[in-house]
Amino acid sequence: MKSRTYYIKTFGCQQNVADSERIAKAFESRGFRPAKAIDTANYVVINTCMVRQSAENRVYGLVNNLAKLKRQKQKNNEFFKIIVTGCMVGLAFRDKTGKYLQRLKSIMPSVDEFMPIEEVGFDNEPLRQDNKKAWVPISNGCNNFCTFCVVPFTRGREISRPFNDIINECINLKNKGYEEIVLLGQNVNSYGADLIMGQENIQVMRDFGKNYFDTDSSYVGSFSFNGKKIKPVYVKHLGRLRIPTLFPFLLEEVAKLGFKKVDFISSNPWDFSDELIDVISRNENITRVIHLPLQSGDDEVLKRMNRWYTSKDYLNLINKIRKKVPSVEFTTDIIVGFCGETDKQFENTVKLAKMVGFSKAYIAMYSQRPFTAAVKVMEDNVPFEEKKRRWLILDKLINHRYRDDQEN
Ligand code: SF4
Repeated sequence: MKSRTYYIKTFGCQQNVADSERIAKAFESRGFRPAKAIDTANYVVINTCMVRQSAENRVYGLVNNLAKLKRQKQKNNEFFKIIVTGCMVGLAFRDKTGKYLQRLKSIMPSVDEFMPIEEVGFDNEPLRQDNKKAWVPISNGCNNFCTFCVVPFTRGREISRPFNDIINECINLKNKGYEEIVLLGQNVNSYGADLIMGQENIQVMRDFGKNYFDTDSSYVGSFSFNGKKIKPVYVKHLGRLRIPTLFPFLLEEVAKLGFKKVDFISSNPWDFSDELIDVISRNENITRVIHLPLQSGDDEVLKRMNRWYTSKDYLNLINKIRKKVPSVEFTTDIIVGFCGETDKQFENTVKLAKMVGFSKAYIAMYSQRPFTAAVKVMEDNVPFEEKKRRWLILDKLINHRYRDDQEN
């Protein structure tokens, strides 16, 4: 009997790309083959993204087209199933009221299964698309709750993968001849906080007193690797020790395996420790292009976004990294037209972007996301035309130069 085929359509970030590689492996291990095109597959898996409304709309458009294909195939007695997974399903299964899942079902009645990505797990090695560069997830989810962002609701709270699993995966990749590793997480810098503290204790970090993290406190816990006790790095914020992380140690252990390049995305400015800068500076195979999301260069907007730094903190961090890693370049994420962003506040972002001299920026026009604080208590009051104008200014300022460099 001819084996059945699958086709995976991935939307969104590299984390979704890495998840799709695990989905592919799960299909292959059950004897399925990849289909050459979406309309020749027996199973179509759509790995969704919700970061912006436009990403969500593309999913609805695709499912709509597949619904027509499904009707045609049913007439011809051909087996065809549509499976939706990724962020939209993550949100639906975390919404205890069940309303969001109901909503998805009514918008996309042709979908056969809404599958939470957690069902795929890490047991199988991913079916990688590239044989030199590998994406290696180190954590999933986020505890930061930036007011515009739906990720803590789609992917849930931050869970770190066990340290040894990551190292073993990297050793395996090195033995297979991989040259480049990208460590992935929504906030890689806070990797390991849950392994040290216990996941249930992470949520209230902001409320702990200054001396909470006395390193010998039994409550804080400890971490050992290869029989050696590892001292976590305690990330400071607003004069407080915020969370203990293992990321600098993990990054250096991976770099020491001897890959040509070790990269990591994404970092948050407020968790970028001095120890992490030292690790980057002393390991030349760690990336010299650091992605450091700015989101806004205005302190008031940053506060409304629940981002824990000021424009000055951000600039100081950039300068600190440049001092220790002279050849470094920075890329970033910026949102224009966030709730209440005035012209002057946008100008502060332009000013900061000029001061930093980013090599590239992913610029987004703000769009409301369900469940976020911004959608609940703020007004999306910057008109679309104005968002577009701001977007064009920043794109021209940062990305035109990048495109020119690429062409030359
Ligand atoms: S750090 Fe903020 S923007 Fe990034 S995933 Fe978490 S909530 Fe979203």
